[in-house]
Amino acid sequence: MTNNDPLLERLASDLDFDLKALRKKYVFERDRRINTAGTQQYTEVSGDHAKFEQDDPYVETPMSRDALSIDTDVVIIGAGFSGLMSGARLTERGVVNFRIVDAASDFGGTWYWNRYPGAQCDIDAYCYLPLLEETGYMPKEKYSFAPEIFEHSKRIADSFGLYEKALFQTRVTEIRWIETESRWSVSTNRGDRIRARFVIQGTGPLSRPKLPGIPGITSFKGHTFHTCRWDYNYTGGNHKGGMTKLADKRVAIIGTGATAIQCVPFLGASAKELYVFQRTPSSVGLRGNKPTDEAWYTSLEPGWQRQRRQNFAAILQGEPAAEDLVADGWTDIVRRLGNALMSRDPEDGDLNLEEIMLRSEIADFEKMNELRNRIEQLVNDKDTAEILKPWYRQFCKRPTFNDQYLDTFNRPNVHLIDTSDTQGVERVTEKGLVAGDTEYEVDCIVFATGFEATSAPHRRVDFSTIGRNETSLFDHWKNGFRTLHGISSHNFPNWFTIGINQNALSPNFTSMFDDLAIHVSYIIASVLNSDFRTVEVSAEAEEAWVQEIIQTTNQARNDFLAECTPGFFNHEGQDENLQNLPYGPGINAFNALLAQWRNEGELTGMTLS
Ligand code: NDP
Repeated sequence: MTNNDPLLERLASDLDFDLKALRKKYVFERDRRINTAGTQQYTEVSGDHAKFEQDDPYVETPMSRDALSIDTDVVIIGAGFSGLMSGARLTERGVVNFRIVDAASDFGGTWYWNRYPGAQCDIDAYCYLPLLEETGYMPKEKYSFAPEIFEHSKRIADSFGLYEKALFQTRVTEIRWIETESRWSVSTNRGDRIRARFVIQGTGPLSRPKLPGIPGITSFKGHTFHTCRWDYNYTGGNHKGGMTKLADKRVAIIGTGATAIQCVPFLGASAKELYVFQRTPSSVGLRGNKPTDEAWYTSLEPGWQRQRRQNFAAILQGEPAAEDLVADGWTDIVRRLGNALMSRDPEDGDLNLEEIMLRSEIADFEKMNELRNRIEQLVNDKDTAEILKPWYRQFCKRPTFNDQYLDTFNRPNVHLIDTSDTQGVERVTEKGLVAGDTEYEVDCIVFATGFEATSAPHRRVDFSTIGRNETSLFDHWKNGFRTLHGISSHNFPNWFTIGINQNALSPNFTSMFDDLAIHVSYIIASVLNSDFRTVEVSAEAEEAWVQEIIQTTNQARNDFLAECTPGFFNHEGQDENLQNLPYGPGINAFNALLAQWRNEGELTGMTLS
């Protein structure tokens, strides 16, 4: 809506802030952050940087074993929640002859690797921790800390007999379709020879760390690690802090995303000096964690978890919902918009999309103003408070919630370094980091710089997938994802993936993965129970789904992201290929579509042979 629209003029005049000025400020802050290198500004953690990913500081006993030669029904690659859900859902369908391969030494995926102090799920635990009803577990708090989630991963593995099927400390190096055997050959770094009728690739959207392409990283003579390989041998302490070995250390942390927000308070409490290098501030809302009310929990009726997840998804998608079961910072904006629409003047005539967009923009401005005011209230130094203020709409970046982060900047040993003018840290030297005209000498650099979440497929997965006719999956997807329902591709028979591409996206990843695992397990069990050997997406069905994704792409969401500060949500501010975007109607609609597909029982769009 333009700045001169009469409705805008009228609504703006009722506000206690200048809407047009705020719009201008957001554009200004966005434009000065656009980096023309886009996603190329990041460096892959291979070659000289491989240690940031390959080191496993948590392994208790490095394993030694002979190479295996086995034949199995299914190989699941990845023991995170995609792999766990696949294992559980296959087992429920009576498919028990499978293996799960992972580089880690246990189940958990993200929650195996991310053990940094303060790590916590930012989604309501009653939605986030899967299979609560099946395993009979009650989360301790509304938002679980990492050790509890890791324990729950192990609980799921135990409950479904997955440990005996696991091949840990094993990296897949290639998977290749063997036409003459109608099987996949799975190669590993341990020289295993594994044959599998089916493969489920559940390698996770946030599994490969990335580094900023700052010159000089390898020249630094001090200690470095990425947050997903927290080095407690160096820092001392544990998940709860107490990192006594940092008492005489000057520490730098690069990045202020969802991860840094959680670990900075602990670093601030332990390090002699802490330098927080910020390029774009996160929005930091109130966490307000609380213990689970046992009486409430035990009163829940069977099926409550699916209902709660659907309710959360419906609210975030703006679908009608009688109540907001989760009622937290995620659902707050949508609730506010609902209230604004209910209280609108009937004389304003019929409600149209433009008005909804304008009212949601206003609700967002109000919410972000509150968050900016919160910073002023909590941070004593006015200049520091100003630098910590986010100037973008709340869902431009993953919203964060924390009750200690902002106060940490009141500590005399904690220094916020604003690198927004130079689009980040400029250089790493032997002794430290350069930003502006200053070199900050430090003993340790912690990279809280995120993951290869939306980069090219070959950067997100560190092994190749070679299908029928020597087709490489990376080539097949080089001009954009090509799948049916985001789970399988033409020329890749008996191959499935569970991830975030070409399906519906929810911030509650574990719930998405579970829904996809239910679907994939259904297909695999159907084929195993038939006389057919292979199932493969037809070229036509794949193309039809690509078109469906393009056509259902939510234009309003795209316009929204185009105006956001750069980050991995909006492809670092570059145009995104429409076929790489999620299914527009949202996760509840997507799940209904999959359920109907299964009910039809025809495996429509797939060829059996
Ligand atoms: P992010 O990608 O969100 O953050 C990376 C940070 O590094 C950003 O602040 C970025 O700044 C900064 N950065 C990158 N390059 C430079 C540079 N050259 N100089 C200075 N700063 C730089 O990674 P996170 O690990 O924080 O979070 C990733 C995702 O992990 C989240 O979105 C979320 O999905 C998940 N997560 C989930 C949690 C949960 O509770 N479930 C908890 C933690 C993480 P800029 O913003 O300017 O690009």
